[in-house]
Amino acid sequence: MSVSVALVYPDLLGTYGDGGNATVLAQRLRWRGYECEVASFGAGDAVPSSCDIYVVGGGEDLPQSLAARKLAESRALHRAVDKGAVVLAICAGLQVLGESFVGPDGRTSAGLGLLGCTTTRVPGARAVGEIVVEPDPAWAALGLESCTGFENHGGVTRLAEGTVPVGKVSVGVGNADGTLEGAVRGRVWGTYLHGPVLARNPTLADLLLTWVVGGLAPLDDSRPEALHRERLRNGPSERAAGVAQVQRAVRTAGAALERLARVGTGRRRPGAS
Ligand code: GLN
Repeated sequence: MSVSVALVYPDLLGTYGDGGNATVLAQRLRWRGYECEVASFGAGDAVPSSCDIYVVGGGEDLPQSLAARKLAESRALHRAVDKGAVVLAICAGLQVLGESFVGPDGRTSAGLGLLGCTTTRVPGARAVGEIVVEPDPAWAALGLESCTGFENHGGVTRLAEGTVPVGKVSVGVGNADGTLEGAVRGRVWGTYLHGPVLARNPTLADLLLTWVVGGLAPLDDSRPEALHRERLRNGPSERAAGVAQVQRAVRTAGAALERLARVGTGRRRPGAS
């Protein structure tokens, strides 16, 4: 069996090395005897809807908006998802695949609606630093272990009722305030974890691959597992944990202010009926 992996707009969404996720998927397939072809589609290319796996990376606000507009126009990812493709969307990718996000001009832009989440901005610090996520029981049952990564985002993502997260944050900020991380719908996996996340978390790479090829032979993962242990032990240093705690507090306060402002604008004038 030959598997096709599409790297979507690495020239727009390639700031954080997330293209490495495509390399990891391909190599883990080849080690198991599968053929795998990775094709990269830049902003000037038509993204096909016929690939098995799509990898969408993180990026800054302006290129993120451009990528969203092009994907909304072509509907290539919509068609691919309808056909059962797996999508891994990181950070800006997660935000773009949601219902809406905030563009570089501060206005709300429509997302692709492939994930049940909305992303806003609240006053406060960006979420920057090491992050550790304990998987939702649904994913733990499929072999996903705790995930480590690096986050760097200003967006605050809220899940729609019934949307399954990747899991619970034990170190770092995640979607909004240090509670939940990521959003998953069907075979569309959205997460804030850079790394590349699949190099740092081989059990996530294999979970996504099983959705394409079924059961997988085990690999010698001693090296990524050593990195994983090292990150769990030393990555989230006390300083980083302290910084994340302050970031969470600032963002929680920002979210409360945002809610108050909304209540304020919706309040009736005294005496009005
Ligand atoms: N531009 C988005 C934000 O700041 C996404 C950043 C990223 O992909 N790392 O929230």
